[in-house]
Amino acid sequence: MKEVNYDVVVCGAGVAGVAAAVAAARQGAKTVIIEKQCLLGGLAASGLIYIYLPLCDGNGKQVAFGLAEEMFRRCTEYGPFAVPERWGGPAGGDPGIKGDRCQCCFSPAGFTLTLDKMLEESGVDLWLDTLVTDAQKEGDRIVSVDAVNLSGKIRIAGRCFVDATGCALAASLAGAKVLSEVNHVTPWIMEMASDPSFFHFTESLHIRPFGEHKEEYAVEPPFDGKKVTAFVRRTWRMMRSHYDAFSRAERVKNYPVHLPAMPQIRKIGRIDALYTLSETDCGKHFDHAVGTAGNWYHPDPGWEAPYEALVPKDLDGLLAAGRCIGAGGYAWEIFRVIPAAALTGEAAGTAAALCAQKNLSPKDLPYALLKEHLTSLPD
Ligand SMILES: Cc1cc2nc3c(=O)[nH]c(=O)nc-3n(C[C@H](O)[C@H](O)[C@H](O)COP(=O)(O)OP(=O)(O)OC[C@H]3O[C@@H](n4cnc5c(N)ncnc54)[C@H](O)[C@@H]3O)c2cc1C
Repeated sequence: MKEVNYDVVVCGAGVAGVAAAVAAARQGAKTVIIEKQCLLGGLAASGLIYIYLPLCDGNGKQVAFGLAEEMFRRCTEYGPFAVPERWGGPAGGDPGIKGDRCQCCFSPAGFTLTLDKMLEESGVDLWLDTLVTDAQKEGDRIVSVDAVNLSGKIRIAGRCFVDATGCALAASLAGAKVLSEVNHVTPWIMEMASDPSFFHFTESLHIRPFGEHKEEYAVEPPFDGKKVTAFVRRTWRMMRSHYDAFSRAERVKNYPVHLPAMPQIRKIGRIDALYTLSETDCGKHFDHAVGTAGNWYHPDPGWEAPYEALVPKDLDGLLAAGRCIGAGGYAWEIFRVIPAAALTGEAAGTAAALCAQKNLSPKDLPYALLKEHLTSLPD
Protein backbone atom coordinates (compact mmCIF):
# COMPACT_ATOMS: atom_id res chain seq x y z
CA MET A 1 0.00 0.00 0.00
CA LYS A 2 1.26 3.51 -0.84
CA GLU A 3 2.33 5.42 2.31
CA VAL A 4 2.66 9.18 2.81
CA ASN A 5 3.92 11.13 5.84
CA TYR A 6 2.75 14.30 7.52
CA ASP A 7 3.40 16.10 10.79
CA VAL A 8 -0.33 16.54 11.50
CA VAL A 9 -3.16 14.46 10.06
CA VAL A 10 -6.68 15.85 10.52
CA CYS A 11 -9.56 13.43 9.94
CA GLY A 12 -12.77 15.21 8.88
CA ALA A 13 -13.13 18.68 7.31
CA GLY A 14 -16.08 20.04 9.23
CA VAL A 15 -15.69 23.38 11.01
CA ALA A 16 -13.54 21.77 13.72
CA GLY A 17 -11.31 19.97 11.23
CA VAL A 18 -10.74 23.03 9.07
CA ALA A 19 -9.92 25.12 12.16
CA ALA A 20 -7.52 22.41 13.38
CA ALA A 21 -5.78 22.11 10.01
CA VAL A 22 -5.44 25.89 9.56
CA ALA A 23 -4.09 26.25 13.12
CA ALA A 24 -1.59 23.39 12.67
CA ALA A 25 -0.36 24.73 9.33
CA ARG A 26 -0.01 28.26 10.77
CA GLN A 27 2.39 26.71 13.33
CA GLY A 28 4.49 25.46 10.42
CA ALA A 29 3.37 21.82 10.54
CA LYS A 30 3.09 19.84 7.30
CA THR A 31 -0.64 19.20 7.52
CA VAL A 32 -3.19 17.11 5.65
CA ILE A 33 -6.96 17.13 6.11
CA ILE A 34 -9.01 14.17 4.88
CA GLU A 35 -12.70 14.53 4.02
CA LYS A 36 -15.11 11.92 2.67
CA GLN A 37 -17.41 14.47 1.00
CA CYS A 38 -16.76 17.10 -1.66
CA LEU A 39 -17.84 19.95 0.59
CA LEU A 40 -16.10 21.56 3.56
CA GLY A 41 -17.81 22.47 6.82
CA GLY A 42 -19.44 19.12 7.66
CA LEU A 43 -22.88 19.71 9.15
CA ALA A 44 -22.44 23.45 8.53
CA ALA A 45 -22.40 22.80 4.76
CA SER A 46 -23.49 19.29 3.79
CA GLY A 47 -25.84 19.25 6.78
CA LEU A 48 -27.52 22.55 5.77
CA ILE A 49 -26.93 24.00 9.24
CA TYR A 50 -26.45 27.67 8.54
CA ILE A 51 -26.58 29.65 11.80
CA TYR A 52 -23.22 30.63 13.26
CA LEU A 53 -24.25 30.71 16.91
CA PRO A 54 -23.04 33.46 19.28
CA LEU A 55 -19.49 34.27 20.24
CA CYS A 56 -20.82 36.39 23.10
CA ASP A 57 -22.13 35.66 26.59
CA GLY A 58 -25.53 37.26 25.90
CA ASN A 59 -24.65 40.17 28.16
CA GLY A 60 -22.72 42.18 25.59
CA LYS A 61 -19.33 40.54 26.16
CA GLN A 62 -17.32 38.60 23.59
CA VAL A 63 -16.14 35.25 25.01
CA ALA A 64 -14.88 33.29 21.97
CA PHE A 65 -11.86 34.55 20.03
CA GLY A 66 -9.26 33.36 17.53
CA LEU A 67 -10.35 31.17 14.63
CA ALA A 68 -13.91 31.06 16.01
CA GLU A 69 -14.09 34.82 15.40
CA GLU A 70 -12.12 34.71 12.14
CA MET A 71 -14.51 32.13 10.64
CA PHE A 72 -17.48 34.10 11.95
CA ARG A 73 -16.28 37.27 10.25
CA ARG A 74 -15.63 35.42 6.97
CA CYS A 75 -18.64 33.05 6.84
CA THR A 76 -20.94 35.52 5.08
CA GLU A 77 -18.45 36.32 2.29
CA TYR A 78 -20.41 34.33 -0.35
CA GLY A 79 -24.02 34.74 0.75
CA PRO A 80 -26.86 37.16 1.37
CA PHE A 81 -26.36 37.58 5.14
CA ALA A 82 -24.29 40.01 7.22
CA VAL A 83 -22.27 39.76 10.42
CA PRO A 84 -23.57 41.93 13.28
CA GLU A 85 -21.12 44.32 14.88
CA ARG A 86 -22.42 44.21 18.46
CA TRP A 87 -21.40 41.56 20.96
CA GLY A 88 -24.93 40.70 22.06
CA GLY A 89 -27.22 41.74 24.85
CA PRO A 90 -28.65 43.66 26.52
CA ALA A 91 -29.15 41.32 29.45
CA GLY A 92 -32.70 40.06 29.54
CA GLY A 93 -33.16 40.59 25.80
CA ASP A 94 -34.73 37.91 23.61
CA PRO A 95 -32.24 35.05 23.86
CA GLY A 96 -33.74 33.01 21.01
CA ILE A 97 -32.30 32.27 17.58
CA LYS A 98 -33.45 35.63 16.30
CA GLY A 99 -32.46 37.34 19.53
CA ASP A 100 -30.03 40.13 20.05
CA ARG A 101 -26.88 38.04 20.10
CA CYS A 102 -23.64 38.18 18.14
CA GLN A 103 -24.59 35.44 15.68
CA CYS A 104 -25.38 35.28 11.98
CA CYS A 105 -26.62 33.13 9.12
CA PHE A 106 -24.47 32.05 6.20
CA SER A 107 -24.95 30.25 2.91
CA PRO A 108 -23.82 26.62 3.50
CA ALA A 109 -22.44 26.43 -0.06
CA GLY A 110 -20.74 29.82 0.26
CA PHE A 111 -19.12 28.73 3.54
CA THR A 112 -17.41 25.83 1.74
CA LEU A 113 -15.77 28.34 -0.62
CA THR A 114 -14.51 30.43 2.28
CA LEU A 115 -13.21 27.43 4.24
CA ASP A 116 -11.36 26.23 1.13
CA LYS A 117 -9.76 29.67 0.82
CA MET A 118 -8.62 29.45 4.45
CA LEU A 119 -7.03 26.03 3.85
CA GLU A 120 -5.36 27.29 0.68
CA GLU A 121 -4.02 30.44 2.38
CA SER A 122 -2.44 28.39 5.16
CA GLY A 123 -0.93 25.74 2.88
CA VAL A 124 -2.91 22.69 4.07
CA ASP A 125 -3.07 19.61 1.81
CA LEU A 126 -6.76 18.83 1.29
CA TRP A 127 -7.92 15.38 0.22
CA LEU A 128 -11.58 15.33 -0.75
CA ASP A 129 -13.70 12.29 -1.58
CA THR A 130 -11.39 10.28 0.68
CA LEU A 131 -12.74 8.00 3.37
CA VAL A 132 -10.74 7.16 6.50
CA THR A 133 -11.27 3.43 6.99
CA ASP A 134 -8.81 2.19 9.59
CA ALA A 135 -6.10 3.20 12.04
CA GLN A 136 -2.85 1.63 13.19
CA LYS A 137 -1.17 1.86 16.56
CA GLU A 138 2.26 1.22 18.04
CA GLY A 139 1.59 0.43 21.67
CA ASP A 140 -1.01 2.98 22.81
CA ARG A 141 -0.06 5.51 20.14
CA ILE A 142 -1.87 6.01 16.84
CA VAL A 143 0.74 6.20 14.08
CA SER A 144 -1.25 6.08 10.83
CA VAL A 145 -4.70 5.92 9.29
CA ASP A 146 -5.80 4.13 6.15
CA ALA A 147 -7.92 5.95 3.62
CA VAL A 148 -9.50 5.05 0.32
CA ASN A 149 -10.25 7.19 -2.73
CA LEU A 150 -10.01 6.86 -6.52
CA SER A 151 -6.23 6.33 -6.18
CA GLY A 152 -6.96 3.19 -4.13
CA LYS A 153 -5.88 2.51 -0.56
CA ILE A 154 -3.37 4.86 1.03
CA ARG A 155 -1.68 4.76 4.43
CA ILE A 156 -1.22 8.22 5.97
CA ALA A 157 1.37 8.31 8.72
CA GLY A 158 1.50 11.26 11.09
CA ARG A 159 3.39 12.54 14.09
CA CYS A 160 0.10 13.67 15.64
CA PHE A 161 -3.59 13.22 14.69
CA VAL A 162 -6.75 15.27 15.15
CA ASP A 163 -10.08 13.45 15.23
CA ALA A 164 -12.60 15.94 13.82
CA THR A 165 -14.95 13.34 12.35
CA GLY A 166 -17.87 14.60 14.44
CA CYS A 167 -18.29 11.10 15.90
CA ALA A 168 -14.82 10.16 17.25
CA LEU A 169 -14.44 7.68 14.39
CA ALA A 170 -10.65 7.94 14.09
CA ALA A 171 -10.28 7.33 17.82
CA SER A 172 -12.74 4.45 17.62
CA LEU A 173 -10.93 2.86 14.65
CA ALA A 174 -7.77 2.99 16.80
CA GLY A 175 -9.62 1.09 19.54
CA ALA A 176 -10.46 4.00 21.88
CA LYS A 177 -13.67 4.09 23.90
CA VAL A 178 -16.49 6.21 22.42
CA LEU A 179 -19.50 7.48 24.39
CA SER A 180 -22.90 8.69 23.18
CA GLU A 181 -26.30 10.08 24.21
CA VAL A 182 -29.98 10.27 23.23
CA ASN A 183 -30.82 12.44 20.18
CA HIS A 184 -33.95 13.90 18.64
CA VAL A 185 -35.00 13.71 14.99
CA THR A 186 -35.26 17.34 13.86
CA PRO A 187 -34.07 17.68 10.27
CA TRP A 188 -33.39 20.97 8.50
CA ILE A 189 -33.88 21.20 4.75
CA MET A 190 -33.71 23.86 2.07
CA GLU A 191 -37.03 24.44 0.34
CA MET A 192 -39.00 26.74 -1.92
CA ALA A 193 -42.22 27.71 -0.18
CA SER A 194 -44.95 30.25 -0.01
CA ASP A 195 -44.94 30.11 3.81
CA PRO A 196 -41.32 30.70 4.84
CA SER A 197 -40.82 29.44 8.37
CA PHE A 198 -37.27 30.46 9.11
CA PHE A 199 -34.47 32.61 7.70
CA HIS A 200 -34.78 33.56 4.06
CA PHE A 201 -32.22 33.39 1.31
CA THR A 202 -34.74 35.04 -0.99
CA GLU A 203 -38.43 35.71 -0.52
CA SER A 204 -39.29 32.06 -1.11
CA LEU A 205 -36.02 30.12 -0.64
CA HIS A 206 -35.29 29.31 2.97
CA ILE A 207 -34.29 26.58 5.42
CA ARG A 208 -37.12 24.80 7.22
CA PRO A 209 -36.49 22.93 10.46
CA PHE A 210 -38.82 20.01 11.32
CA GLY A 211 -39.61 18.17 14.54
CA GLU A 212 -39.10 19.00 18.18
CA HIS A 213 -37.13 17.89 21.21
CA LYS A 214 -39.92 15.60 22.37
CA GLU A 215 -40.12 11.99 23.53
CA GLU A 216 -41.59 10.75 20.24
CA TYR A 217 -38.61 12.10 18.29
CA ALA A 218 -35.99 10.53 20.58
CA VAL A 219 -33.38 8.14 19.18
CA GLU A 220 -31.23 6.11 21.57
CA PRO A 221 -27.52 5.38 21.13
CA PRO A 222 -25.44 3.49 20.11
CA PHE A 223 -25.46 4.79 16.53
CA ASP A 224 -24.42 2.07 14.14
CA GLY A 225 -24.66 2.01 10.35
CA LYS A 226 -28.18 0.54 10.40
CA LYS A 227 -29.47 3.12 12.87
CA VAL A 228 -28.11 6.00 10.79
CA THR A 229 -30.05 4.76 7.76
CA ALA A 230 -33.19 4.36 9.88
CA PHE A 231 -32.68 7.89 11.31
CA VAL A 232 -32.31 9.48 7.87
CA ARG A 233 -35.30 7.59 6.42
CA ARG A 234 -37.39 8.74 9.36
CA THR A 235 -36.53 12.36 8.51
CA TRP A 236 -37.56 11.70 4.88
CA ARG A 237 -40.91 10.29 6.06
CA MET A 238 -41.47 13.45 8.16
CA MET A 239 -40.79 15.56 5.09
CA ARG A 240 -43.14 13.50 2.89
CA SER A 241 -45.99 13.89 5.34
CA HIS A 242 -45.30 17.66 5.51
CA TYR A 243 -45.39 18.08 1.72
CA ASP A 244 -48.33 15.66 1.31
CA ALA A 245 -50.34 17.87 3.69
CA PHE A 246 -49.63 20.85 1.44
CA SER A 247 -50.81 18.91 -1.63
CA ARG A 248 -54.01 17.85 0.17
CA ALA A 249 -54.72 21.44 1.18
CA GLU A 250 -54.25 22.44 -2.47
CA ARG A 251 -52.13 25.37 -1.42
CA VAL A 252 -49.30 26.80 -3.46
CA LYS A 253 -46.89 23.93 -3.96
CA ASN A 254 -44.03 23.87 -1.49
CA TYR A 255 -41.15 21.59 -2.32
CA PRO A 256 -37.65 20.68 -1.13
CA VAL A 257 -34.71 21.80 -3.26
CA HIS A 258 -31.87 20.35 -1.23
CA LEU A 259 -31.68 17.73 1.52
CA PRO A 260 -28.86 17.29 4.02
CA ALA A 261 -26.12 14.99 2.74
CA MET A 262 -25.08 14.11 6.30
CA PRO A 263 -27.22 12.54 9.01
CA GLN A 264 -28.41 15.43 11.19
CA ILE A 265 -27.66 13.59 14.40
CA ARG A 266 -26.52 16.17 16.89
CA LYS A 267 -24.49 13.94 19.19
CA ILE A 268 -23.13 10.72 17.73
CA GLY A 269 -19.97 9.90 19.66
CA ARG A 270 -17.32 11.56 21.78
CA ILE A 271 -13.99 10.49 23.23
CA ASP A 272 -13.61 9.33 26.80
CA ALA A 273 -11.49 12.35 27.69
CA LEU A 274 -9.07 13.09 30.52
CA TYR A 275 -11.73 15.65 31.57
CA THR A 276 -15.39 15.48 30.60
CA LEU A 277 -17.27 18.78 30.79
CA SER A 278 -20.66 18.61 32.51
CA GLU A 279 -23.56 20.87 33.50
CA THR A 280 -21.71 22.00 36.63
CA ASP A 281 -18.89 23.61 34.63
CA CYS A 282 -20.69 26.82 33.62
CA GLY A 283 -18.59 29.82 34.68
CA LYS A 284 -15.84 27.58 36.08
CA HIS A 285 -12.22 28.67 35.55
CA PHE A 286 -9.83 25.98 34.36
CA ASP A 287 -6.06 26.41 34.76
CA HIS A 288 -5.58 24.82 31.33
CA ALA A 289 -8.36 26.64 29.46
CA VAL A 290 -8.06 26.76 25.65
CA GLY A 291 -10.98 29.16 25.16
CA THR A 292 -14.55 29.93 26.18
CA ALA A 293 -17.81 28.98 24.48
CA GLY A 294 -20.91 31.15 24.84
CA ASN A 295 -24.18 29.55 25.92
CA TRP A 296 -26.31 29.88 22.79
CA TYR A 297 -29.54 29.06 24.66
CA HIS A 298 -29.44 31.97 27.11
CA PRO A 299 -27.06 34.47 28.70
CA ASP A 300 -24.63 33.05 31.28
CA PRO A 301 -20.96 33.60 32.25
CA GLY A 302 -19.66 31.25 29.52
CA TRP A 303 -18.04 27.82 29.42
CA GLU A 304 -14.26 27.45 29.49
CA ALA A 305 -12.89 24.38 27.73
CA PRO A 306 -9.93 22.74 29.49
CA TYR A 307 -7.20 21.24 27.27
CA GLU A 308 -7.86 17.87 28.97
CA ALA A 309 -11.31 17.70 27.30
CA LEU A 310 -9.52 17.24 23.96
CA VAL A 311 -7.27 14.38 25.09
CA PRO A 312 -8.51 10.78 25.18
CA LYS A 313 -7.70 8.72 28.27
CA ASP A 314 -6.99 5.54 26.37
CA LEU A 315 -5.18 6.62 23.18
CA ASP A 316 -1.93 8.47 22.60
CA GLY A 317 -0.96 10.68 19.62
CA LEU A 318 -4.48 12.06 19.01
CA LEU A 319 -6.58 15.04 20.04
CA ALA A 320 -10.31 15.42 19.52
CA ALA A 321 -11.93 18.58 18.11
CA GLY A 322 -15.49 19.78 17.67
CA ARG A 323 -18.52 17.80 18.67
CA CYS A 324 -16.50 14.73 19.68
CA ILE A 325 -14.53 16.30 22.56
CA GLY A 326 -15.15 15.28 26.16
CA ALA A 327 -18.43 17.06 26.98
CA GLY A 328 -21.57 15.33 28.23
CA GLY A 329 -25.22 16.27 28.81
CA TYR A 330 -25.89 20.02 28.77
CA ALA A 331 -22.16 20.73 28.27
CA TRP A 332 -22.26 18.68 25.05
CA GLU A 333 -25.10 20.96 23.91
CA ILE A 334 -22.84 23.97 24.47
CA PHE A 335 -19.73 22.50 22.82
CA ARG A 336 -21.26 20.69 19.82
CA VAL A 337 -22.10 23.89 17.87
CA ILE A 338 -20.18 25.79 15.20
CA PRO A 339 -18.27 28.46 17.22
CA ALA A 340 -17.21 25.89 19.83
CA ALA A 341 -16.12 23.52 17.04
CA ALA A 342 -13.87 26.27 15.64
CA LEU A 343 -12.53 27.03 19.13
CA THR A 344 -11.67 23.43 20.04
CA GLY A 345 -10.43 22.85 16.48
CA GLU A 346 -7.91 25.67 16.82
CA ALA A 347 -6.72 24.30 20.16
CA ALA A 348 -6.42 20.71 18.90
CA GLY A 349 -4.58 21.74 15.71
CA THR A 350 -2.18 24.03 17.57
CA ALA A 351 -1.48 21.33 20.17
CA ALA A 352 -1.00 18.67 17.48
CA ALA A 353 1.54 20.87 15.64
CA LEU A 354 3.48 21.53 18.85
CA CYS A 355 3.44 17.82 19.76
CA ALA A 356 4.73 16.97 16.27
CA GLN A 357 7.49 19.60 16.45
CA LYS A 358 8.64 18.67 19.97
CA ASN A 359 8.02 14.94 19.61
CA LEU A 360 5.66 15.00 22.59
CA SER A 361 2.58 13.05 23.52
CA PRO A 362 -0.54 15.29 23.83
CA LYS A 363 -0.73 14.22 27.47
CA ASP A 364 2.76 15.66 28.08
CA LEU A 365 2.40 18.95 26.18
CA PRO A 366 3.19 21.79 28.62
CA TYR A 367 0.14 24.04 28.86
CA ALA A 368 2.32 27.18 29.05
CA LEU A 369 3.74 26.34 25.61
CA LEU A 370 0.27 25.75 24.12
CA LYS A 371 -1.08 28.97 25.63
CA GLU A 372 1.74 30.98 24.03
CA HIS A 373 0.50 29.86 20.58
CA LEU A 374 -3.28 30.09 20.99
CA THR A 375 -5.25 33.00 19.59
CA SER A 376 -8.50 31.66 21.09
CA LEU A 377 -7.83 33.16 24.54
CA PRO A 378 -8.56 36.81 25.39
CA ASP A 379 -5.49 39.11 25.58
C1 LIG B 1 -30.42 19.50 13.24
C2 LIG B 1 -29.21 20.26 13.70
C3 LIG B 1 -29.28 21.64 13.91
C4 LIG B 1 -28.15 22.35 14.31
N1 LIG B 1 -28.23 23.71 14.43
C5 LIG B 1 -27.11 24.43 14.66
C6 LIG B 1 -27.12 25.84 14.58
O1 LIG B 1 -28.15 26.46 14.30
N2 LIG B 1 -25.95 26.50 14.80
C7 LIG B 1 -24.79 25.85 15.15
O2 LIG B 1 -23.77 26.53 15.39
N3 LIG B 1 -24.77 24.53 15.23
C8 LIG B 1 -25.88 23.79 14.96
N4 LIG B 1 -25.82 22.43 14.96
C9 LIG B 1 -24.57 21.76 15.33
C10 LIG B 1 -23.42 21.97 14.37
O3 LIG B 1 -23.82 22.16 13.04
C11 LIG B 1 -22.43 20.82 14.38
O4 LIG B 1 -22.43 20.14 15.57
C12 LIG B 1 -21.03 21.37 14.12
O5 LIG B 1 -21.03 21.98 12.84
C13 LIG B 1 -20.08 20.20 14.23
O6 LIG B 1 -18.87 20.46 13.62
P1 LIG B 1 -17.71 19.36 13.63
O7 LIG B 1 -16.66 19.90 12.74
O8 LIG B 1 -17.37 19.01 15.02
O9 LIG B 1 -18.36 18.01 13.02
P2 LIG B 1 -19.04 17.69 11.63
O10 LIG B 1 -19.74 18.86 11.09
O11 LIG B 1 -19.81 16.44 11.85
O12 LIG B 1 -17.81 17.38 10.66
C14 LIG B 1 -17.21 16.11 10.60
C15 LIG B 1 -16.61 15.93 9.22
O13 LIG B 1 -15.90 14.69 9.20
C16 LIG B 1 -16.18 14.01 7.98
N5 LIG B 1 -15.96 12.59 8.19
C17 LIG B 1 -16.62 11.77 9.06
N6 LIG B 1 -16.17 10.52 8.97
C18 LIG B 1 -15.19 10.54 8.03
C19 LIG B 1 -14.34 9.52 7.48
N7 LIG B 1 -14.42 8.24 7.87
N8 LIG B 1 -13.44 9.88 6.53
C20 LIG B 1 -13.37 11.20 6.09
N9 LIG B 1 -14.15 12.17 6.56
C21 LIG B 1 -15.04 11.85 7.52
C22 LIG B 1 -17.63 14.37 7.70
O14 LIG B 1 -17.97 14.19 6.34
C23 LIG B 1 -17.67 15.84 8.12
O15 LIG B 1 -17.34 16.71 7.06
C24 LIG B 1 -26.93 21.67 14.55
C25 LIG B 1 -26.86 20.29 14.35
C26 LIG B 1 -27.98 19.59 13.93
C27 LIG B 1 -27.87 18.12 13.70
